[in-house]
Amino acid sequence: MNLDDGRIIGVEALVRWQHPRLGLIAPDEFLSVAEETGLITQVDEWVQARAFQDVSDWHRSGLEGIRLSVNISAQQLEQDGFVERFFSAFERSGMLPDLFKIEITENAIMKDIEVIVPRLRELRRRGLRIAIDDFGTGYSSLSYLQQFPVSTLKIDRSFVGDIRADQTDASIINAIVAMARGLKLDLIAEGVETRTQLNYLKLQGCKEVQGFIFSRPVPAGELKSLLRQNPFMSLLQAEAAAISAG
Ligand code: MN
Repeated sequence: MNLDDGRIIGVEALVRWQHPRLGLIAPDEFLSVAEETGLITQVDEWVQARAFQDVSDWHRSGLEGIRLSVNISAQQLEQDGFVERFFSAFERSGMLPDLFKIEITENAIMKDIEVIVPRLRELRRRGLRIAIDDFGTGYSSLSYLQQFPVSTLKIDRSFVGDIRADQTDASIINAIVAMARGLKLDLIAEGVETRTQLNYLKLQGCKEVQGFIFSRPVPAGELKSLLRQNPFMSLLQAEAAAISAG
């Protein structure tokens, strides 16, 4: 969501498991198992293929310019032939590279930096954008950050959660915002749930946010009408009016 006008500018593809008996299973419950058992790559590829399909469907039905982010694991990146396979799936989708972003955590990069960084660099060279997910929680150092072929930082939700009305000093957020500006990286705040957080981030100059204050993750089928209606534009206008009224 763009904080200037409240427009939905992109979506992140997230996986949920609708189990026939157990109901909806949260990703924290099965993604770690998928990682341990080596199934994560198949899960990743399935989610990505589905996301490419949905987005090209939206573009065909006139919803232009919607950006897509997909999450990627260290295991998927380490696969033989990953770059070619991934890039050709991307090309088949017909998306513009500018509208597409890969999200990877710092820890995933650090797991196998020698293999992963050159592969990310190759994708970046081919025009894809790369975001560091859950930024600030990993073990990478600032000197690494400069070497990563990254275009975006996603501020981890735990720091956003620290912004509370009774505590005006969210120094980690301020530091990340300043750093992103210095390194000329885009910034997205994750996990925005309250108006206090929203207004604070806006004041700091953060341009993009995502979180429950706007919407819980929704099924792809419901997203289309959300994208058409852009219901958060009025929410943001009301918020701006409330602030200027003091
Ligand atoms: Mn993500």
